[in-house]
Amino acid sequence: MCAEECWLITSEPDRVNAAVARMRQAGLRTTTARRAVLDLLAQAVVSRGHLTPAQLHHALLARGLTVELSTVHRVLRQLVDLGIAHTVPVGRTVTFGLADDPHHHAVCRQCGDMRQLPADAVAASLTAARALGIDPDTPGQPTGVVVYGDCATCRQVGH
Ligand SMILES: [Zn+2]
Ligand SMILES: [Zn+2]
Repeated sequence: MCAEECWLITSEPDRVNAAVARMRQAGLRTTTARRAVLDLLAQAVVSRGHLTPAQLHHALLARGLTVELSTVHRVLRQLVDLGIAHTVPVGRTVTFGLADDPHHHAVCRQCGDMRQLPADAVAASLTAARALGIDPDTPGQPTGVVVYGDCATCRQVGH
């Protein structure tokens, strides 16, 4: 499934450890909730890439962790503030993914399925934006380029 793009991707524990180190630098303790959210986001990298707060909450409960949805939101906000995670809006909800390797997104607007676009695939768009005075590299903001469309499955089903 990942022939060309795998060189970008470091292993799941490496990603989590790097994120934990960054949190510690920022003075945040590694709570169970923070650690579990990071684990889930690192696991998601090889599938959808991003998860919604509701999906994360559900997965945490399935792991036997009793956390409030508001805690999940708070942890995600902290990760975004530190630049560890970034967001992509899909429909009315916002999805979260690890931001440790530079990438952009192609999203199915119907089912929310997502693929990562390598940074160099959209470099020209970002350069053009910068030339127009829009800085696409603002940390903590919804990232870069999002291409919305319809995935193969949704196209087959019809709308
Ligand atoms: Zn992403
Ligand atoms: Zn779809």
